[in-house]
This record gives sequence, structure tokens and C-alpha cells, in this order.
Amino acid sequence: MIYLDYQATTPLAPEVAKAMQPWIEEKFANPHSPSRWGNEAEAAIEVGRKRVETAMGLTGGSLAFTGSATEALNWALKGSAEKAPKGRNRIITVATEHAAVLDTCEWLAAGGIDLTVLPVQPDGRLDLDLLSRELDERVLLVAVMQVNNEIGVTQPITEIADMAHACGALMLCDAVQAFGRVELCKGPDLVAVSAHKIYGPKGIGALWIRKGAEPAPFIHGGGQERGLRSGTLSPALCVGFGAAAKLAEERQHRDYDHVQKLWGAATRALGKGWIINGSTNHRYPGNLNIRREGLDGARLIADLRDIAFSLGSACASGSGRPSHVLRALGLDYRQARSSIRLGFGRYTKQKELVEACHQIAAHAHAQEKLDA
Ligand code: PLP
Repeated sequence: MIYLDYQATTPLAPEVAKAMQPWIEEKFANPHSPSRWGNEAEAAIEVGRKRVETAMGLTGGSLAFTGSATEALNWALKGSAEKAPKGRNRIITVATEHAAVLDTCEWLAAGGIDLTVLPVQPDGRLDLDLLSRELDERVLLVAVMQVNNEIGVTQPITEIADMAHACGALMLCDAVQAFGRVELCKGPDLVAVSAHKIYGPKGIGALWIRKGAEPAPFIHGGGQERGLRSGTLSPALCVGFGAAAKLAEERQHRDYDHVQKLWGAATRALGKGWIINGSTNHRYPGNLNIRREGLDGARLIADLRDIAFSLGSACASGSGRPSHVLRALGLDYRQARSSIRLGFGRYTKQKELVEACHQIAAHAHAQEKLDA
């Protein structure tokens, strides 16, 4: 199989698997127990936490582990809404956000939050003048992602955070696709990340919280994570997340240069007739979302079972619904259905990527002939 779905998830780095192994096989103590073994597990978790915090490079806050970034985003939104000062009842977000943000916002709106979902420009970028016109003293929180999972387009997070702060609102950033791949933008009060997008294990995410911006507790129980997020932590997952973060920090420039070269190789190998969805200047180059007139993306995926790629997000691919992100760029239903996402990363070899692109291009041509 040629794996080109690095936005859906990344392979576990061998270094990470090795770091996790003792915590899966031998060291089973509860990290919240007072025994010597418990203390050892707790210390390992704290090393993991420090590594993730250091790799995130943000100051003035601290990290709480969660079960996923979806949980972190739910917590940030619902917990901030619960603690909102009187008179601040509005959340502003963007049409291209992940479902973990959009669906949670919709849920909050059903409970009385005043929700504004801003459109994006045809290149996928948010118009900051539009945002500025929407901001006022009723806004509680602005939620915008740094790198989009479907099209790789980046948003000016620091400027957005400054604008949110100027009207007294909090800024939440979904940095799931940015963390470990590019430098995280400074400014947000709440930042969600996930281990399995940075060559770490599935089943663990985290919310970075600026001091003073703590959302109300989301999961109640034993009072772990400073009373904010109860539940026994998994030393194996926390150690794995820490190891993946440290590795990502050490390799960030090397990994970035690698995907940039791969982007060039892929676009050359695909040949003519493809249109890139979203901005070509403001994007992460490990995400190549492209469309072709008349292409049936789902059929292409079904024809090429030895290449793992997708229509958009893993969720959108599974549902059969055209991607809400592509629709937000102004693509019609047919154009959205003729789009595919190729995602590559640390372990992608140029040769296999070029081979996959040749096969994709050949099958796309064959579809055109059949349909002609
Ligand atoms: N946000 C973005 C941008 C993502 O790509 C994903 C994963 O697909 C998530 C949030 C959810 O992350 P998790 O799988 O850790 O719940």
C-alpha cells in the first residue's frame, strides 16, 4: 500500500513505540497512586507533558491531557460557554472548521448560544475585515484553526487572537494539523492538539490553556488534571505523546523540507488538468487537495485500492456527503465530488508518491475516456 492519508492519521514513529513499550508491558501502576510505582508512572507522565508543552512553544499556560482533540475542542467550547461572563453569549467560528468545532458550536447554539459561522474567501482564507465587523463586547470566544485538515490552508491566527482580545473575547485554535508540522502561532488562549497526527498514539489529545482562561471542568470524577479533567491518565499514551512531540520538534524543519519537495514531485507527476483547491501561498505543503473537471473522486478511490488517499476529511469520505470545506470555498456539488486529497509526510518516499500520482493520473484519464 502507498499511504497518502497523513491528515487522517500518521504512522506511529518507531521511536515512539519503543518509548511506550515498557508502559504497556511491565509498568502498569496507576499514576495517581501514592506507591513508588505510582510515583514513577506520574513522573513519566509529567515528562511527557513537558515535552508536548515545549514542542508547542507557547508561554503563559499549561497543558491538560484529554482522550482526543475532539474532546479538547468540546471541552474548550462548552467549558468556556459555561463560564462566560454575563452579557457575553456569542461564539464566532468559520465555515471550514473541523466537525469537532462546528458540531459542538451547533450544539451550544441549540442551548441558547448566539452562533456566527463566517464564510471564507474562495482561497479558503478568512476575511479579517469581515471578522472585525462581527466582533463586539457580546463575543465570548472566537474559534479558528491554524491549518485546515482538508485543504491545508492556513489562517492568520495571531492577528485573529489580537482582534478577539481587543474586544475582550477568548481565542480558541484547533492546531491539530499545525502542531509538529509548522510553528504554532502565538496568541490563542486555548489550543487543541492530537498525538496521532504527529506520529504518536491514537486515543490522546491535549488542551493548552492560558493561565486565567480555564474552561469549566468537562469530565467530573477523581479530580485529575488539576480538577479540570477527571479520569486516570494512561502513562503509555502520555509518554508516547511526549516522545512524538520531542521528535517532531527536533525534526520539524527536516520534515517540512521533505514534504515541500514531495509537493513539487507530486504536482509534476500528476501532469496537467488538475486544479489546486484553496490558497497555494498560504498552506501547508503536505496537503495536496486537487480537483479535475468531470472526475468521480469516489470511483477513483474505489479503483485504486492499493493507494490510501481520500476525498477530504476521513469523516467526509465515510459519509458520502460532499465536503463542507470545499462547498465553503464556493465549489459546487459536482466540483466537490471531483476533488481528492493526497497527504504525505515523514515516511513518504518520493518514488512511491510519484508512482501513486502516475496511477491516479492514468485512472483519471481512463475515466474521461469512458465517460466521453
Ligand atoms: N481537528 C482537526 C483539524 C483534525 O484534523 C482532527 C482529526 O481529524 C480533529 C480536530 C480531531 O482530532 P482527534 O482525532 O484527536 O479527535
